[in-house]
Amino acid sequence: MGILSFFYPDNYSCDFYGMSKKLPEIMKEKGLGSVIFDIDNTLVPHGAPADERAKELFKELSRAGIKTMVLSNNGLERVRSFAEAVGTGYICNARKPSRVGYLKACAAMGSEPSKTLFVGDQIFTDIMGAKRAGLSSLLVDPVDRSTDIFKIRLKRIPERFILASYRRRQKKGKSPQRGCANS
Ligand SMILES: [Mg+2]
Repeated sequence: MGILSFFYPDNYSCDFYGMSKKLPEIMKEKGLGSVIFDIDNTLVPHGAPADERAKELFKELSRAGIKTMVLSNNGLERVRSFAEAVGTGYICNARKPSRVGYLKACAAMGSEPSKTLFVGDQIFTDIMGAKRAGLSSLLVDPVDRSTDIFKIRLKRIPERFILASYRRRQKKGKSPQRGCANS
């Protein structure tokens, strides 16, 4: 394992909404009963309100008996309005990759971190924090890269190297877990 493997997500999807219909089934297979989402560029473009497909996703997860939360480094107003629109609990100003917010979100759902999935678009905040807090992680491609703020754009550069290395390893079949069907 190279040094980059320290940053690898457990799974990766280049088309999250393309596979999200299968998410409840995949989670159940892996024994995961709860899921925490990043918001910006994971579920909607950065700063955009909840859209129909995001609302439908939360409905489907709830129908499948899966508990949900959103966990964002963004501020109260943005995070609360999104969470209310999709009907889920939230933690804002989370300071990811600090593990504190992840553990609070798990506690709010009554879920063990090891039985909880985190879905996010950034390796150095979302995925690192999930790994530190002992959650399972799914890295997704940003919904709309052009909406990334400047400091996020800078982090995309080293992220690209890590993701390329991760995908090479996946192709060789050396990854501990295979990625999503569409990755
Ligand atoms: Mg994000």
